[in-house]
Amino acid sequence: MSDCIFCKIVEKEIPATIVHEDDDVLVFMDIGPIIKGHALVIPKKHYDPVTETPDHVINKLFLTAKKIAAAQMNGLGADGVNIMQNNGKASGQEVPHIHVHVIPRFDGDGHHWNWNPKKYDDFDEMAELAHKLRKQL
Ligand code: 5GP
Ligand code: ZN
Repeated sequence: MSDCIFCKIVEKEIPATIVHEDDDVLVFMDIGPIIKGHALVIPKKHYDPVTETPDHVINKLFLTAKKIAAAQMNGLGADGVNIMQNNGKASGQEVPHIHVHVIPRFDGDGHHWNWNPKKYDDFDEMAELAHKLRKQL
């Protein structure tokens, strides 16, 4: 994809601080870290969104994210890690080339997700949504 910023990073047309590279994936530092050490795992081939990405690519992305999480814990002293993957503008995705965020977390790092749990009107409403999901599986 000629106008994709992450494809340009893969092609080394724009610079990035690379953590890991193999035939399939590239891992580089996020330029706007939620917490310092925040890395992005991307496939070298352009896919988006997750539902259009082949299973073997998903496997490789998340296995690589696991390795990066371990590196953040062992190498940066992270106490925890957030692994995130956004799809679509509604989710907050800005770059439409599938990527997995691996964000090191430190006790008392001061970051709080805007996690605002809602309530279902009643059990039936929740069950109905679960039913709609099950029908698609
Ligand atoms: P999204 O919101 O799409 O899930 O996340 C996109 C991420 O890519 C953001 O965290 C943003 O900081 C990062 N990003 C966007 N442009 C660049 C870039 O040119 N270089 C690097 N290293 N990261 C970028
Ligand atoms: Zn791309």
